[in-house]
Amino acid sequence: MICRVLFLMLLIVVGAGGFSTPASVMSQDAAPGVTIHVVQRGENLYRIALQYGLTVDEIAQYNGIVDPTNIQVGQRLLIPLASSAAAALPTTHVVQPGETLRSIAELYGLTVDQLVALNAIANADTIYVGQVLNLVPGQPAMAPTIPVEAAPVVSPESQTLIYVVEPGDTLFKIATRFGLTVNDLASANEISDPTVVYAGQRLLIPGVEPPQITVDLPPNVTSFTLSPLILVEGETGEFRLTTAVPMTITGQFLGRDIRDATPDGGLTHVILVGVPVFTEAGSYPIQLTLTDSIISQQIVLDVSVQVLAGGYGNENITLLAGRDNLLDPSLDADEKAFIEGIMSGFMPTRYFNGPMGLPAAASITSPFGRKRSYNGGPRTFFHSGTDFAGAPGTPVMASAPGVIVFADTLNVRGKATIIDHGWGVYTGYWHQTEQFVSAGDVVTVGQVIGTIGATGRVTGPHLHWEVWVNGVPVNPMQWVKQSFS
Ligand SMILES: [Zn+2]
Repeated sequence: MICRVLFLMLLIVVGAGGFSTPASVMSQDAAPGVTIHVVQRGENLYRIALQYGLTVDEIAQYNGIVDPTNIQVGQRLLIPLASSAAAALPTTHVVQPGETLRSIAELYGLTVDQLVALNAIANADTIYVGQVLNLVPGQPAMAPTIPVEAAPVVSPESQTLIYVVEPGDTLFKIATRFGLTVNDLASANEISDPTVVYAGQRLLIPGVEPPQITVDLPPNVTSFTLSPLILVEGETGEFRLTTAVPMTITGQFLGRDIRDATPDGGLTHVILVGVPVFTEAGSYPIQLTLTDSIISQQIVLDVSVQVLAGGYGNENITLLAGRDNLLDPSLDADEKAFIEGIMSGFMPTRYFNGPMGLPAAASITSPFGRKRSYNGGPRTFFHSGTDFAGAPGTPVMASAPGVIVFADTLNVRGKATIIDHGWGVYTGYWHQTEQFVSAGDVVTVGQVIGTIGATGRVTGPHLHWEVWVNGVPVNPMQWVKQSFS
């Protein structure tokens, strides 16, 4: 048997005196970096192509556009980025429908005050769609890019892990992930003010061995990649395999059956996995069985994957007197099982395309993942979505294209809508006051599907937004920042 050994980490190319770019972490078989451009008033394909150093034909071809003179304001274009462009830090951001200064600040790991100062904004409530915001001091307005790949990279000389700061990261969050203190991290990187880190910054992670994903690639398996290379508790990861002959892939990861999406008849395999919150940091096996579709021969691939802590933090919640009965698990069990049943499905058609949009033009009040203890009890609960506070009646928008699979009223979740985006990816929108869609409807990204309300078990009006991947609730904000497949 011919075995090729693939050292994913050895594919990193490090130039003299510099570190590799995030994009170069991927092998040549991986999808290149992609960003989304939302067509603004007055733009045409020629102007957009110029912005990204591409030709009109390249963009048209990449987006299946037959008539390049016919593009619509608000249309989302996939922009393939060259590896150098993919690694470039965003210096500006074009305000999209549904965004607020707060949501934009969170996207880039800034504070609202920093954004206000960088852009000399007099009134934080008056940003407008299409406005170009500076993200760094003194930068000219340039094409907006979103870093789509932010995997840790490694410096081979030192064999020390290099972590590329992602939007929304803080030094505390990163330190927690690697089991370090903020001071350890600050001193290893000569950072004088630990409150200031920026997306794209490369940090040395002292004392942490770089990951080695070593796979004997069997015959007929031409590539195998994992993105990001190190998974994070509560986040989404993507395995991608290509095979020389049609195969089906089965296997398990973290106790769940994996699902093999094969958009081209069985040569490309995309496996999306959600890492459940409460998964302990450590190394986890994933065993894949590849079955040749023609001769039924089976190959087994064993891979070990590293999972880091999410660093989501804890919160203690004291319920109002007399509400302890809400903690009775049997009260919620039926509804939870019902929701899980829907959101664990798998539609082979992929509807999602690029990063998801925010579901409401409202500020985020409670992030995903906080581990909760009620009334001093065990910390066995966690916040399974992202909360947006909005006035009742504020539109709720579909985060990505898909098919409505549920739109009805539940006890805990109130008026709830679930969208199936294909490949095991679902979004849920709870506590609405109005619903404008019903099961079976096909929706587009940004389509208004309902309004914010206070139905179900809530303390006030808000939208609770969930993203599920292969039956696991995951951090929705990762899907806003990053594009999968
Ligand atoms: Zn919530």
